[in-house]
Amino acid sequence: MSNLRIETKCIQAGYTPGNGEPRQIPIVQSTTFKYTSSEDMGKLFDLEASGYFYTRLQNPTNDYVAAKIAALEGGVAAMLTSSGQAANFFALFNLCSCGDHIVASSTIYGGTFNLIEVTMKKMGIDVTFVSPDCTDAELDAAFKPNTKAVFGETIANPALTVLDIEQFARAAHAHGVPLVIDNTFATPINCRPIEWGADIVTHSTTKYMDGHGAAVGGVIVDAGKFDWLAHADKFPEFCTPDESYHGITYAEKFGNAAAFITKCTVQLMRDFGAIQAPQNAYLLNLGLESLHVRIPRHCENGQAVAEYLASHPKVKSVNYCGLPGDKYYERAQKYLPNGSCGVVSFELKGGRDAAVKFMDSLKVAAIETHVADARTCCLNPASTTHRQLTDEQLEAAGVPAGLVRFSCGIESAADLIADIEQALAQIN
Ligand SMILES: *Cc1c(COP(=O)(O)O)cnc(C)c1O
Repeated sequence: MSNLRIETKCIQAGYTPGNGEPRQIPIVQSTTFKYTSSEDMGKLFDLEASGYFYTRLQNPTNDYVAAKIAALEGGVAAMLTSSGQAANFFALFNLCSCGDHIVASSTIYGGTFNLIEVTMKKMGIDVTFVSPDCTDAELDAAFKPNTKAVFGETIANPALTVLDIEQFARAAHAHGVPLVIDNTFATPINCRPIEWGADIVTHSTTKYMDGHGAAVGGVIVDAGKFDWLAHADKFPEFCTPDESYHGITYAEKFGNAAAFITKCTVQLMRDFGAIQAPQNAYLLNLGLESLHVRIPRHCENGQAVAEYLASHPKVKSVNYCGLPGDKYYERAQKYLPNGSCGVVSFELKGGRDAAVKFMDSLKVAAIETHVADARTCCLNPASTTHRQLTDEQLEAAGVPAGLVRFSCGIESAADLIADIEQALAQIN
């Protein structure tokens, strides 16, 4: 499979049926799996043999889909989680324990920001946030002796900043720690962070990968490149025996290719249980089969809508890295040469009232707490997700009151623009 193009992998990677077996991946709707001897099952528990025994840890349907996503990202192993939040939490908590520290880009998704800034702090894990536009010296200064991971998003939701992945990878590796990249908005169709030095890639599969607003989910992919034993002082959980698993040393027993996902499965999935339902994995796979067809269309529509908005007199500013003159245009040319995503954000001159009037006047686009879906949707953070903030606080958070996040679906661009045109005309 590794020599095939990404379009073919979207369709065929991860599951190869044998003679007379189902063409589509089977949904293994079973909590448990049967064995004829206790010894056989005991070997699974000891990780002496591989196989399924309980769906809280692993399920064949999930594994077919995880293997497909690993192939798409150019990784060696992957696991599905119940949500994008669970994926980012597991990816980081598999690297960090109480007393450790993370370096993260400051413009990441609000849910992940809160996870790291509030919830993981309660677990004794500290964070230093850096601008995605920081200098090498500023990035270097963020590291501490107890830093165990660096985190950022290829294209940030909703800030739409583009990360210099090579810069962040260089810094992470100079300090002997892995780089974790949330690649939700770019998808492997437009960017494969592992090719730029990332060690772990995560997704909220809820977004473009599913793409139809059907199932919440997440995924973690391991590049298999991080050398745990070479950094044994920083990662004792990988390099010394795990007493909760009969003294197994993950990096020795499974090597660089399988240590991360195996440890994440047998420790975190076992204990936290945030597994994706096999039904949802099946739906996710249907989305993946058309990902390479849908993503270019999302990008075409995003580009057309961004260009229209940028020329409109009632629009104050547009954020879209496909627009020449956008702050991230140059960086996007390097990391996202085929396009970025369908999400555009823009600020109306009339502020919050204009944004609300505009959105209420839309007929094709719908108001939703969602992005990256086949159906166009939009949100005014000031009147919804960021409702508790004053206009001054909104400005400071980089989410001005008149900002609209507009997620272009795969409808006709002409219909989207006509809808925007008539809604803008409703504003005084
Ligand atoms: C939505 C999102 C998440 C959280 O994913 P859920 O599936 O909603 O839990 C994480 N990261 C990014 C970039 C997202 O857009």
